[in-house]
Amino acid sequence: MPTYIVLLGPPGVGKGTQAKILAETASLPHISSGDLFRENIKNETELGKLAQSYMNKGELVPDDVTIGMIRARLSQPDCVNGALLDGFPRTSVQADALEKLLAEFGGSVNHVPYITAAEPVLVERLGGRWTCRANGHVFHEKHNPPKQAGACDLDGSELYQRDDDKSETVHRRIQVYFGQTAPLIEYYRQRGLLTEINGAQAIEKVTADLLAVIKK
Ligand code: ADP
Ligand code: ADP
Repeated sequence: MPTYIVLLGPPGVGKGTQAKILAETASLPHISSGDLFRENIKNETELGKLAQSYMNKGELVPDDVTIGMIRARLSQPDCVNGALLDGFPRTSVQADALEKLLAEFGGSVNHVPYITAAEPVLVERLGGRWTCRANGHVFHEKHNPPKQAGACDLDGSELYQRDDDKSETVHRRIQVYFGQTAPLIEYYRQRGLLTEINGAQAIEKVTADLLAVIKK
C-alpha cells in the first residue's frame, strides 16, 4: 500500500524545509504545490500565467486548476509508493478531491503532521527566507544561512527573495491560511490522522518529532 503524508501548517512554519529532509529519509517524493506553480511560472506555461496572478496577491489559486496539477503529479511513476505532500490540500474542496484521488491509487492519507508556530515567528521566517532558483531549496538569513551568501549550498544556484514574501503579501497569506486552510485541522483530526508538532524549535528537533510520527 502506498504511504501518503500531508504536511499541514501555516506559511513559513517550515513545511518545505522539513519535507526536503524527510523525503530522503522516507524515500518518498516531495510534492510541493507552490514549487509546481513556480516551475510553471518559470517555464511560462498557461497554468503558470494564471497561477501567478493569484500568488502575487497572496490568494489561493482556484481549486480545479490546483487539483488538476496535483492529480497529474501524483500519477507519475515515482509516486507508486506514495508521496509527501507540502502545501496541498489547502481547502476542504481540495481535501475531498485528494481523498477520492488516492482511493483511485489504492491508498489514502496515512499521517497529517500539523506544524505550528505563533504568527510573529512566521512573519520573521518568511521575511528572512531565501529560495534557490534551480530547485526551491530554502535558507534563512539568520536561522539557516547558506555557507556562501547568495548561493545555494546544495546546487550552487542563485538565491532570491520571493515576491510574495514581502510584508503586505505575507499578512494576506496568513489571513488566507486562517480562513481557508485552518478548517483542515479539524477535518484530519476527526479522521484520527492529525499529530501536532511544535514548529518553533530548531530544525533538527522538528525533524526528529516528525520522524517519530511517520514511523508509527
Ligand atoms: P513553509 O514551506 O512552511 O512556508 P519553509 O520551510 O520555506 O516554510 O521555511 C520558512 C523559512 O523559515 C525559511 O527561511 C527556513 O529556512 C526557515 N525555517 C524553517 N524551519 C525553521 C526552524 N525550525 N527554525 C528557524 N527557521 C526555520
Ligand atoms: P508557503 O508554504 O510559504 O505558504 P507555497 O509555496 O506553498 O508558500 O505557496 C505559494 C502560493 O502558491 C500560495 O500563496 C498560493 O497562491 C499558491 N498555492 C500553493 N499551494 C496551493 C494550493 N494547494 N491551493 C491554492 N493555491 C496554492
